[in-house]
Amino acid sequence: MTKEITKSQAAMEMEDKYGAHNYHPLPVVLSKGKGVYVWDTEGKQYFDFLSAYSAVNQGHCHPKIVSALQQQAETLTLTSRAFYNDTLGEYEKYICEYFGFDKVLPMNTGAEAVETAIKLSRKWAYEKKGVAENEAKIIVCENNFHGRTTTIISFSNDEDARKNFGPYTEGFIKIPYNDIDALKEALKEENVAAFLVEPIQGEAGVFVPDEGFLTEASEACKKANVLFVADEVQTGVARTGQLLACDHENIKPDMLILGKAVSGGVYPVSAVLANNDIMEVIKPGQHGSTFGGNPLAAKVAVAALDVIKDENLAENAQKLGVIFRDRMQKFIAKNDLVTTVRGKGLLNAIIINDTPESSTAWNICMQLKENGLLAKPTHGNIIRFAPPLVMTEAQLHECCDIIEKTIAEYK
Ligand code: PLP
Repeated sequence: MTKEITKSQAAMEMEDKYGAHNYHPLPVVLSKGKGVYVWDTEGKQYFDFLSAYSAVNQGHCHPKIVSALQQQAETLTLTSRAFYNDTLGEYEKYICEYFGFDKVLPMNTGAEAVETAIKLSRKWAYEKKGVAENEAKIIVCENNFHGRTTTIISFSNDEDARKNFGPYTEGFIKIPYNDIDALKEALKEENVAAFLVEPIQGEAGVFVPDEGFLTEASEACKKANVLFVADEVQTGVARTGQLLACDHENIKPDMLILGKAVSGGVYPVSAVLANNDIMEVIKPGQHGSTFGGNPLAAKVAVAALDVIKDENLAENAQKLGVIFRDRMQKFIAKNDLVTTVRGKGLLNAIIINDTPESSTAWNICMQLKENGLLAKPTHGNIIRFAPPLVMTEAQLHECCDIIEKTIAEYK
């Protein structure tokens, strides 16, 4: 007799058999999304508390973004940067004015945009700052996460991300995160092109630096004639309660790296923004991507960024973030299983009172799933909470009820 299996089981078995095992997903198979909700193949509804790692800030399948995709898909999807197209310039003007920069270099994924920023920083150092060829250095932070390319993992200190992927790319100086003295010391080195930093370290477990760190860092970079490069792939586009996390301190990076929510999770769109004095170092043939800046991406990004402003999503993230942390603080005051809640806007994390090697956080996420909320541990004992920013206050309270009940009942 053949064994009856559910649709979910069939989908998981297929991924397991034919897909590389480079992820370890929670056992839930999603087949539909709308706003703050996703549904599995058996029709069970969940609150999505990860938002595709902050790509779906505008909520799943936002009608305005999907409509932009559909219309453009029927008109023109991809040409080639060998020719002009009638959507790219409009998008470039739009995103430059939106974030206040002279120029944008369009790419697709976050990691590609980081690579772009690294190349731009180095080229700027050689051609504008006068650094000797092949000597440029970029300061980065411990526990960074900037993506998965061979160069980017070269300056990671996550052993899983690095091990057996060498030889590594040279030219990076690593300092502790949130350590202004270490930064000032590193800036004394010769040939420094840039300081590449996440304004909040998302993947590392939502580490928020001390207030004033980014301001001081930006000033120190300016003094040393070093580019301040903000990787806002995860923190940008309203996630932390401001359009950019840098806006909390009113600082403007020399280079801004964006990805994820630039498209509302509808299509891979990333971007590097900078002013002319930096961007002009790139000439034809020196950088690019087949899909970067294609008409579909251009239309989707404009629609997705419109939604952020039209629906006041930064303000909503700010307001709900305060409510979320307030409720969690009150809850953990009387519960030993969680030691800390931290974050900004709707990028938050709780720390589970167990070792990173333990399975407690994973088991709690399994139970959250049973109770209708999807989240995933990062680094073993940290659970990141990053719902779509279109959440209402009533929905957030419902989610807090689920989280509190799940943890309170956890054995
Ligand atoms: N930079 C940061 C800060 C990120 O959080 C991520 C992804 O999580 C990336 C870069 C890489 O983006 P992608 O996965 O689109 O390559």
